Amino acid sequence: MKRFETLYDILCDTGDLLQEGRRREHLPLTDRVRGLMETLHDGEQVDHGGRAGGDSVHPVESPLPGLPERRRRLEALIAGVKQCTRCPLSLGRTFSVPGEGVLDPLVMFIGEGPGRDEDESGRPFVGAAGRYLDRWLTAIGLSRETNAYITNIVKCRPPENRDPQPEESDACAPWLHEQISLVRPRMIVTLGRISTRILTGTTQGITRIHGTFYSLNGIPLVPTFHPSAVLRRDEWRRPVWEDLKAVRNWLVDNVGHEPPEDPTG
Ligand code: SF4
Repeated sequence: MKRFETLYDILCDTGDLLQEGRRREHLPLTDRVRGLMETLHDGEQVDHGGRAGGDSVHPVESPLPGLPERRRRLEALIAGVKQCTRCPLSLGRTFSVPGEGVLDPLVMFIGEGPGRDEDESGRPFVGAAGRYLDRWLTAIGLSRETNAYITNIVKCRPPENRDPQPEESDACAPWLHEQISLVRPRMIVTLGRISTRILTGTTQGITRIHGTFYSLNGIPLVPTFHPSAVLRRDEWRRPVWEDLKAVRNWLVDNVGHEPPEDPTG
């Protein structure tokens, strides 16, 4: 065993020298083997034996969990969101609204929080704004049934549809970030100033930065207006369409998306 550990260290050092010219901290060989075994077992915790007192082995996160494992974890996340009491928004909700759509979507749309229709149904974007959003998706060849995912910054409705408070969005952030890592969208579109500010860190208004490409952990992120705001402001329809065309063009150029023809010509 000792010879294998020595060989493992030599291989790690050689790899570091070739890649970066400096030594990184490496997991012990036994931990690497344990992680590999757990990955092969689809992320299930396995009994490696040999531990006094029946100590459990901490599961090692697989860096690239497969589709069944991600689906299982997403279902667990959704169950967790339905029971969540991390912030006071849990007190006034009818249903929490985790989100819906497909795994590995082309685009993940992120709004700020559920409204009344969403609170009563447990589904995201189902009222007038939701139907309008569905039209946007259709226009660029997307749908929540086939190649998109829709969710919000906070999963429970703020009273009277007010903006989520920072402590509420902070409390809910771990759900969203785990959701993003499990769903793995090719691109993110933030809907409105709240989700844009929280996910990009910008303090600039949505009218100034809509359509700009940002990056969230390497995922392209494009802000646009919230559909409910556009329903109230006709002058924002044209800018939204320009943003959607930018999204559509990125998908065509980078992932081979085949959307319908531009209905505006
Ligand atoms: S808004 Fe988020 S953090 Fe707050 S109770 Fe709902 S799911 Fe939990």
